[in-house]
Amino acid sequence: MSELEAIRALVREKAGIISDINRQIWSYAEGGYAEYRSCEKLVSVLEAEGFSVRRGAAGIETAFIAEYGSGHPVIGITAEYDSLPGLSQQAGEAVKIPVEEGANGHGCGHSALSAGSAGAAVVIAAWLREKGISGTVRLFGTPAEESGFGKVFMAKAGCFDGVDAVFTWHPGDMNAVSFNRMTANLRIRYDFRGVAAHAAAAPDRGRSALDACELMNVGVNYLREHVPSSVRMHYAYLDCGGTAPNVVQDHASLLYIIRAPKLSTVSEVAARVDDVARGAALMSGTEVAIRKQGGMSDVIPNPSLCRVISECMQEAGGPEFTSGDYETAARFMNAIPEETRAKLIRDGAALNGISEEEFEKRPLNTAVRLMDESRRNFVVSASSDVGDLSYLVPTAQFNAAVCIPSTAVHTWQMTAQVGTGIGDRGAAWAALIIAMSCAKVFLDPSIAEKAKSELTEETRGEYVSPLPDDVTPDMFRNI
Ligand SMILES: [Zn+2]
Repeated sequence: MSELEAIRALVREKAGIISDINRQIWSYAEGGYAEYRSCEKLVSVLEAEGFSVRRGAAGIETAFIAEYGSGHPVIGITAEYDSLPGLSQQAGEAVKIPVEEGANGHGCGHSALSAGSAGAAVVIAAWLREKGISGTVRLFGTPAEESGFGKVFMAKAGCFDGVDAVFTWHPGDMNAVSFNRMTANLRIRYDFRGVAAHAAAAPDRGRSALDACELMNVGVNYLREHVPSSVRMHYAYLDCGGTAPNVVQDHASLLYIIRAPKLSTVSEVAARVDDVARGAALMSGTEVAIRKQGGMSDVIPNPSLCRVISECMQEAGGPEFTSGDYETAARFMNAIPEETRAKLIRDGAALNGISEEEFEKRPLNTAVRLMDESRRNFVVSASSDVGDLSYLVPTAQFNAAVCIPSTAVHTWQMTAQVGTGIGDRGAAWAALIIAMSCAKVFLDPSIAEKAKSELTEETRGEYVSPLPDDVTPDMFRNI
């Protein structure tokens, strides 16, 4: 039996575990740092499969490290299991019917993410056991990916020390190696304090914090022209001072997110944004308190490990969905307006090498997109807390289809599809690809050595956490 066949057989054997995790965690739909039941579910499955588990990693209640095996290479796999507010939706329903109005939902597909990653860990542990091969697999339970910088806190606490390589994945609408970079970012809060006054009778006595916010935003909007074009700056009002126009507002606050391809660029731009805030305070006669509230490093894709994933995808082919999965998918495809649908079907047919009629009946991507070596420096403008991990350990990621083409993450349509067999099958395929990738490195540890030298060449071993010491996970619970 080839390694591929052996691992595929193990994935089939563990498919029930993978579906069960996906469905359970989907139903819990817990927010960041509140993933108690999700965490418990994963830990209980892993312990039953012979893993030793360290709970409360990095001092975070819903983080854990599960380990199987001994010696090097030590291969890490990450599992995310937080959901998003307001994205509750019944599984399989193509019209909006929340399970509970306003409640959380797995609109980023993290129920499947954790199921696929835990499935991969369980499969590779069984494979190590069967083959009598030495090596260690470590599953990292990494909470609060969405808004809580889970992996950044874990990186700062040294959770990833001693790991030789990391494989991970993210649910999406296609099966593709993620050989691209992602941006770094910083979140900075600006609290302005002024002097309240009657806005008509004594405006001269007032110093408006709201004016300061507006002046700051105008200043930053002028600054946009004079920063590298890859920089993104977004802001939101956390506090606009109140609802009464006849009061000079003595408090108002803004939250900025600044992104760029490298954390060093983000920091340089952030220093200039801070100056704009100080200028706005000076102009309005107010005071400003500036607090860095979080951040993450850019994602560095590891060439050697991405190549391993790509080879595994080529050998294994794409995911195998059932006729029931295709029926569900067709319902979601039919809910898309005619014009868009026609184009999606045309593109889907071309990508998967089948006729349009065929793809209309089976509208899920099963084709694989292999590694495109020319994309090493391509930067996707989104960010991920995988970035901090990718500075410390050679890391590679891919996407697996858990929904019809064009379903965006962070939507109720994603919640609805990932909670069905489509999510189960996408997770099982991700488990197969990760387990095969781990097997290749266990059988040829020189891949991990080469991956490590590629990382050192890029970072020179330098990593600076974007999180200040006074920022703690508690600040991001359930947001
Ligand atoms: Zn996500």
